Amino acid sequence: MATADSHAAPHRSRIEHQPEAVERRVEEALAALSLEQKVRLLTGADVWSTYPEPAIGLRRIVVSDGPVGVRGEQWDERDPSVSLPSPTALAATWDEALIERAGALLASEARRKGVDVVLGPTINLHRSPLGGRHFECFSEDPLLTGRIGAAYVRGLQAHGVGATPKHYVGNDSETERFTVDVRIDQRTLRELYLAPFERTIVDARAWLVMAAYNAVNGVTMTESPLLASPLDDEWGFDGVVVSDWTATRSTAAAARARMDLAMPGPTGPWGDALVAAVRSGEVPEKAIDEKVRRLLRLAARVGALEGVAPAAPAPAQLPADAAARLAREVAAASMVLVRNQGDALPLDASTLQRVAVIGPNAAEGRIQGGGSASVHPHYAVSPLEGLRAALGHRVEVRHALGARSHEGLVPVAGDQVTDPVTGEHGVHVRLLDASGDAFHEEHRAVGKLTFIGDFRANRAETIEVTARFRAAEAGRHRIGVAGVGAYRLTAGGQVLFEETVAPDKDDMAAMLLAPPQRAAELILAAGQEVDLALTHTVAPDAFAVAFSLGVEVPALPDDEELARAVELARTSDVAIVVVGTTEAIESEGFDRSSLALPGRQDELVSAIAAVNRRTLVVVNAGGPVTMPWRDEVDSVLLTWFPGQEMGNAVADVLLGAAEPGGRLPTTWPSREEDVPVLSTKPENGKLVYAEGLHIGYRAWARAGVAPAYPFGHGLGYTRWEILDIDAPPSIAAGAPVEARVRVRNTGPRRGRHVVQLYLSRPDSEIERPVLWLAGFAAVEAEPDQAVEVVIPVAPRAFAHWASGGWQVEPGAFTLHAGHSATVLTRQAAVVILEP
Ligand code: BGC
Repeated sequence: MATADSHAAPHRSRIEHQPEAVERRVEEALAALSLEQKVRLLTGADVWSTYPEPAIGLRRIVVSDGPVGVRGEQWDERDPSVSLPSPTALAATWDEALIERAGALLASEARRKGVDVVLGPTINLHRSPLGGRHFECFSEDPLLTGRIGAAYVRGLQAHGVGATPKHYVGNDSETERFTVDVRIDQRTLRELYLAPFERTIVDARAWLVMAAYNAVNGVTMTESPLLASPLDDEWGFDGVVVSDWTATRSTAAAARARMDLAMPGPTGPWGDALVAAVRSGEVPEKAIDEKVRRLLRLAARVGALEGVAPAAPAPAQLPADAAARLAREVAAASMVLVRNQGDALPLDASTLQRVAVIGPNAAEGRIQGGGSASVHPHYAVSPLEGLRAALGHRVEVRHALGARSHEGLVPVAGDQVTDPVTGEHGVHVRLLDASGDAFHEEHRAVGKLTFIGDFRANRAETIEVTARFRAAEAGRHRIGVAGVGAYRLTAGGQVLFEETVAPDKDDMAAMLLAPPQRAAELILAAGQEVDLALTHTVAPDAFAVAFSLGVEVPALPDDEELARAVELARTSDVAIVVVGTTEAIESEGFDRSSLALPGRQDELVSAIAAVNRRTLVVVNAGGPVTMPWRDEVDSVLLTWFPGQEMGNAVADVLLGAAEPGGRLPTTWPSREEDVPVLSTKPENGKLVYAEGLHIGYRAWARAGVAPAYPFGHGLGYTRWEILDIDAPPSIAAGAPVEARVRVRNTGPRRGRHVVQLYLSRPDSEIERPVLWLAGFAAVEAEPDQAVEVVIPVAPRAFAHWASGGWQVEPGAFTLHAGHSATVLTRQAAVVILEP
């Protein structure tokens, strides 16, 4: 594996990373390149890196997803990564300092894996809760998104690793994501969807931006004028625009736009065709020079250009236990306690004898969403494990599944399978060439296999996976494959199936991530072993192959499963029910079809609540789900997809070692039909953002409908009162405002609270949202202590976009201080004076 050291360029004496010196070095390098060399640099050398150019002292630049961890160049269990909570969870902390520390951890992970650039943060907005990558975006609010996004960027770049805010712009849902033409009016574009990008560029000076797959207002984003303006000319972006993977679709149009780097490579629409377009005068060479300059500037920043010190020193390697502690701290700080009747939480462990931990996500926590944002963690602590460890031997912790959230095959893993060649737990993989000779073989720990890029080096024609499967329980097993293409599966030499599986989706990424399944049934006795052999014939043009050898093990009939869980709850002091979604439901590549919890989970919670007065529900979902039972239970804790430390953080919060620190970064609806902006389905290829400025809590306020839990809501383990707000009664247009808010901790213990400021303008001449977030800050206080916090409100909060510029309407705005978008308890008028 490459290390930070193998990346260093120690041969020449290095100049300090001063702007003029860097620019001189960049010019010198640029001048030494031929047109062919320059153009070659502008397409990836492979899936995750750029071309080196040794003659000018340029090594390759390695990029990696992003954003919950740093996967590195390999996409499987052999190169594990620290896994942090999903981005919505990061935003739920409302804590920029903590997110900067998370960014620094990611920088250290990047350097450990030889990565220069992280492909994140994802700063598209939560326009509809059905958005497939909702969990991967921060919030429905542009200010919160921009501030958390900028903190993430600073955390990475302060340690010399580039950040890539994505996907610029309008990629707020997944349906038809490659082709959809998103129609957004100029004001909405500026005030909502571009605003977070502006913050990450203007405030945090991100080194890259990723151009999205979709079109906005008729132009595909890799050719869009929005890349030049406002990104470059207004915001001063001097970094690299990288295309989303395969999003560059044209030679001249994309090259004439301010698109710099077409990924992945080595093939693509640039290369020789672009050289020819420059020679014919279709694309000015000046444009190519600009792109190369920006690429070299990036190289200098990350330490890939010999002779220049990187923009920041490499981070210290964070030891695994320190990384785990931070992952645990972030997870607890992101969890949102939305309901806590009678202070049911925190639990007092000393009063407990028997605890039931129930639900499909209890023994198998879902730590991340699906898609390119997923990493292979070193480990994952389930809620059951975390609670068992925290409660110790004195408390009896019993578990029942109760309901299933997942159906179908699960990749084989652990002691289910033995590698027939090495005898270790896992499977054996061989790559065979056209003549059937194995040119590569390896042991793998799990049956989920991904091959990207160089597996074709020796013309792999066939991939063969063998394993000895051992049935833990007697009964009906389904054994098969999840994948697209030609497969043959045998068990004990008998053919189970042989079939060419056709794609069932048109999104290539979705296809790799959630492929169709084929399985056959085997009735096995407990302990019975069977030799499995799966062969896949690789399609001639495949640059990536992903499939799993999977199994669905015997399960109790659903009614029996439910009855067992109810019985357990009836005979326990407390029932903790962990419900949720899976990474197959919330994923890149497709949107959700429903906000309901999958399977019979709603029924499970109600049945448990009916027999145990103390029912505490932990909701393990990346984005909103409906919770029709929420008034039947004592407390509801939302954990998002919390990363590898899930179980420990859940235990910390439930038992009070940590306060649930999160506040909702997005509105949680009661019923799907109440959601004001829901559909993500384009019509005739167009997705019209007809609601304009009114998304999220702004739309809920306009509709006058109460959600289950509003934006900004979240309970800690103490209570807060906002005593007063003080703001200047009048200011000149364009002046910043500082509001002073006094807050008292009126509850029983020390805590932290997020004080939120919203603006409204009831008598406005122009259309406006009912209210909009204008600032926020956290306070900490002891019981009974009153503290004052100064919350800055940027001039932009008072501005609106009209006639091609930012305008301010003179007159009185109301500044509200509150605990959420619907609980606003103090207000002050701020008059913007006539110029
Ligand atoms: C995703 C990007 C990701 C890229 C590389 C694309 O399909 O949209 O977010 O960075 O793949 O994995």
